[in-house]
Amino acid sequence: MRDLLATRARASPDATALVDDASGREWTYADLNATVETTAGRLAALGVTRGDHVGVLMETRPAFVRLVFALQRLGATLVPLNARLAPQELHTQRERANLALLVCDADTEADALAAADAVPVATVDDPDDPNVLALDERDLDDVEPAEWAHEDTLALLYTSGTTGDPKPVTLTLGNVVAAAGASAFTLGVLPDDRWLLCLSMYHMGGLSIPLRCALYGTTCVLQRGFDAEATVRALDEHDCTGVSVVPTMLDRLLRADADLPDSLRFVLTGGAPTPRDLVAACEDAGIPIHPSYGMTEATSQIATARPAEAFANPETVGRPLFGTTVTVVDDEGDPVPPGETGELCVSGPTVTPGYYDAPDANAAAFGPHGLHTGDVGYRDTDGRLCVLNRRSDRIITGGENVDPGRVAEVIRSHPAVRDVAVVGVDDPDWGERVAALVVPEEGHEIDRSTLEAHWEDRLAGFAQPRTVAVVDSLPRTASGTVDRDAARERVVATADL
Ligand code: ATP
Ligand code: MG
Repeated sequence: MRDLLATRARASPDATALVDDASGREWTYADLNATVETTAGRLAALGVTRGDHVGVLMETRPAFVRLVFALQRLGATLVPLNARLAPQELHTQRERANLALLVCDADTEADALAAADAVPVATVDDPDDPNVLALDERDLDDVEPAEWAHEDTLALLYTSGTTGDPKPVTLTLGNVVAAAGASAFTLGVLPDDRWLLCLSMYHMGGLSIPLRCALYGTTCVLQRGFDAEATVRALDEHDCTGVSVVPTMLDRLLRADADLPDSLRFVLTGGAPTPRDLVAACEDAGIPIHPSYGMTEATSQIATARPAEAFANPETVGRPLFGTTVTVVDDEGDPVPPGETGELCVSGPTVTPGYYDAPDANAAAFGPHGLHTGDVGYRDTDGRLCVLNRRSDRIITGGENVDPGRVAEVIRSHPAVRDVAVVGVDDPDWGERVAALVVPEEGHEIDRSTLEAHWEDRLAGFAQPRTVAVVDSLPRTASGTVDRDAARERVVATADL
């Protein structure tokens, strides 16, 4: 096939492709296609050709969307780079991805130049710096649109780097098409859908939106970064039907104390567990939350829960998407029965063929059940998936493996417990011991004996917390996940019950 935008512009030229909230500008698919044609011609004049890797360093802007499709037109591979990285990290990522060109805007030009070395830098704004190639002022080359096969690499996208250095994931056209289809089979697609993009496009959740809208023929409403009040307004003003957020963003939207518009059909949350309170708050407010489990390597969602599933069981991320298989395996890599905890392996057409130029990492990551996600969870008896924690968060106490997420789930099921974090702390006898930070429900007191009675029959002896600290709130990182190091310090510093 031709690139996604060319194909879409032929099928629905008059449908609205992109709305830029900041400027109020709108492009139909025919309009967007025309600007992309020009951008592709300018990139071609800069020497970009089929198979080249081209870095894009900028925050969510219309120009980013233009570049995504212009690179496809040329048969080149998009390499989004995180505009918030430290110079050294950016340099490493630029080097690993083997770039032919790095494109930036005025805001990121200095960082781009610092990381570029011999790689040419092009900026989409009028540049003052003579080292910079002015993309918008270049000559135009005629472009013969590239033909795409499903196995061609559309993007190299870095993982978030939670467990180590970010890894460049190869995403093919086939991965993107399969992921858009599988997501639509759960969320549905309507002709007047408008999906608000307020995430970074250098992560999977953000980049997916314009790609999916082009496949669906629906509208991407672009907001230049998240801001609770502005996002609530944008949702309303543009009659948005969907939005993707991480749980902390949703929390802020709810606190913004404004009603989300009735047009909203789905609020997709992912990237981290959605706290129980937040799911309950959505139920109260009638917000169609779809808690999801996803990762870069699976081109976004692996499993997505419908609102009713989430309200009935806030721990679940629902069933794997159509065509995606999740197998829970033990440490030997053998599947375990429903209810038993193990590492989640994922396979199906949305799963990457591998990390870029990393044969050793690929050999370690892929097995007979697909990609080892490094995440631990279980399937309940209905086949719904619960994600507990990362393998690397496992606590090893006296030689036994304890998954903190499972312990947390048991403690959280006590009605007087509002929230909990379970961590391992150093122990002279056991190597590590299990410790819990517990936040009581408002108006409730908690003591150790209550908790002991609650977990006695539910947790193996070695998994029962040896140390418990009662706190008002859990320490969290900027992205809203529990800050495990800070939790460890709090447990150690707070008197035991
Ligand atoms: P790296 O792979 O570099 O360590 P990362 O795994 O954080 O970084 P992403 O691909 O952005 O990079 O994030 C995917 C991960 O996010 C999943 O593997 C999982 O650990 C976590 N995650 C996503 N959704 C959920 C969820 N609903 N519940 C729990 N964890 C989730
Ligand atoms: Mg990961």
